[in-house]
Amino acid sequence: MQVELRKIDMREALHYLGWRGTPVDEATLVQIRSQIDTAKAGVQPRLTYKRFAMDGDFRAAGTTFCAQGEDVRRMLGGCGEVVLMAATLGAASEQLLLRTQARSAGDALILDAVLSAAIESILDEQEQSMRRELAGQGLYLTDRYSPGYGDMPLWQTREICTVLGADRAIGLTVARSGIMIPRKSVTCVMGISKTPVARRPAGCAACPARATCPMARPGDN
Ligand code: SF4
Repeated sequence: MQVELRKIDMREALHYLGWRGTPVDEATLVQIRSQIDTAKAGVQPRLTYKRFAMDGDFRAAGTTFCAQGEDVRRMLGGCGEVVLMAATLGAASEQLLLRTQARSAGDALILDAVLSAAIESILDEQEQSMRRELAGQGLYLTDRYSPGYGDMPLWQTREICTVLGADRAIGLTVARSGIMIPRKSVTCVMGISKTPVARRPAGCAACPARATCPMARPGDN
């Protein structure tokens, strides 16, 4: 399905540029804001997901997908269902990057970071919406976990895309090298539990720069 890109968080874009909470000059902020506007106008985000019963071997029922890695299994522990999800900014994001690269390497670097923040924003919104909906049913959603994080193997990206039929559903394929095409795409898993789940601390709460960072989110405690 097509989804709306409502916002791109400046902090997230800065993080993808390697920033860790030190002051940022106004000229850089202006440049980032400009690329945020470019990204908002130029991408075509799409997302697909499916919800499955999950057995004790962390397998999504009726599929080939079986979550691998201690970290993701710890997150899914106690869950009776698993959600597989994939999202992409679409082929337009590739074209946007190529056009910007041809014009300015500096702008392209910033746009790349902005697009990474954009795809995370799409997933954040979807996760929050699902969390609210499940709460109404007395169910709890875990955090997201993506292949390539921690000890979850990157090759599970392909499995998730295959199970979701991501090629036909949202135009997302995985190259032989394992790279997703379009590159600004993400796959992830989440668990659904009948009992409350432990969550990772949100954004700024766990950040060592929190005390001095001018952009720390007051709500992240
Ligand atoms: S405190 Fe928050 S905004 Fe600042 S660097 Fe840390 S995570 Fe980023």
